[in-house]
Amino acid sequence: AQYVRMGTPGLAASAFSFEEITVQLNEIRIVIVGAGIGGLAAALALRLQGADVTVLEQAEAIAEVGAGIQVSPNGASVLGALGLGDAFEAATIRCRAVVLSDYRRPAEVLRLDLTKHAADQRFAFVHRADLIELLAKAVRQAGVNIRLLQKVERVEPGSPPVLQMCSGARITADLIVGADGLHSRARQALNGTARPFFTGQVAWRAVVPNDQRLPDEARVFMGPGRHLVCYPLRDGAMVNLVAVQERQEWAAESWSHTDDAGNLRSAFAGFEGLPKALLNQVDSPALWGLFRHPVARCWHKGRVTILGDAAHPTLPFMAQGANMALEDAWVLAEELSRAPGIEVALDTYQNRRRPRVERVIAAANGNAWKYHLRSGPVRSAAHLALHLGGLVAPA
Ligand code: FAD
Repeated sequence: AQYVRMGTPGLAASAFSFEEITVQLNEIRIVIVGAGIGGLAAALALRLQGADVTVLEQAEAIAEVGAGIQVSPNGASVLGALGLGDAFEAATIRCRAVVLSDYRRPAEVLRLDLTKHAADQRFAFVHRADLIELLAKAVRQAGVNIRLLQKVERVEPGSPPVLQMCSGARITADLIVGADGLHSRARQALNGTARPFFTGQVAWRAVVPNDQRLPDEARVFMGPGRHLVCYPLRDGAMVNLVAVQERQEWAAESWSHTDDAGNLRSAFAGFEGLPKALLNQVDSPALWGLFRHPVARCWHKGRVTILGDAAHPTLPFMAQGANMALEDAWVLAEELSRAPGIEVALDTYQNRRRPRVERVIAAANGNAWKYHLRSGPVRSAAHLALHLGGLVAPA
């Protein structure tokens, strides 16, 4: 199964060594906009190469919404190469299996045992706040200045590039990296205004106590027009829930919107057993409208570039958004450290990353319908095919 063979095309395991990178970035002053997973990973990768790195974050604290994230072996490899392997191991739960069930019956449709098929691969569940915290700690220890309450209003990719801050200040650098997420100002400067469209799907997210003693597995419960994914977090003390429903009513594309737990429960009425018990524990879930964004056509102009969600937001059906941001961070540092100039490096960076993320995002888009088939037997067969053949990032 591709799931087992999941690797990081163009990022072979042997490439994860800074020893192979010969050119130092000592002379380069880099400003990164955004202290999310992508921005912090890039800050660390670039700082470890000797660059003078500053991160500007609009929030007053580096804090993440209370939610889980799945880190697949490609993302885990980047964290390991950044020297965070032990901290990552300590903060995460190793996923032992992916288990699919129909929404009405407790019987398993499919169990993919990762202890057998991917024993040497790290596929992990982590609380986003824990991942952000371990990255931020390492970034600060490496000597990066993280400046909070710094909101960028506009990015000007001239020579030198300039950040127009909401405070009125203007900041220049040798290189500006926009890791400013979904509503990126940097992407806008390079590509104009994007036109995402609502997919007709919404996702609720919640974290609940693990009273049901869910083991170290990802469980997927599939029903007509909706599915629910759950997995444990923080030494199994809590469970992360993501519940996706097809519906035509629009919901905002932001994690800061909460919904009435009653709406979530009625959307998933008919789900029995474990999913029902978990849903009964939810208090105030976040509600998120799922939008499709085109991958940015232009990833760099002059000395401004973008990475992570700023360049390629994805639907969550491959659990690859943060993993792709980690890959971007690595490749950007690698190319900057070995190319003869910044612009050349940015060009190679885009050429290496864009085809890869396009394939991953196309796979995530394609997966959406397979979870929600209306006929039970067809749904089960599709899920079997999905999880045997296409769950993971394609090469
Ligand atoms: P962000 O995390 O969005 O960080 C951007 C940062 O920039 C923020 O801190 C923000 O405050 C800051 N910022 C923004 N604008 C400005 C400004 N103007 N000035 C200054 N600062 C600014 N991915 C996975 O790999 N695995 C999963 O299991 C997974 N599950 C998901 C489930 C759902 C339902 C969804 C919707 C997504 C999921 N993802 C998952 C995707 C993942 O969350 C994102 O792809 C990832 O967090 C993107 O990281 P980023 O650093 O690019 O952007």
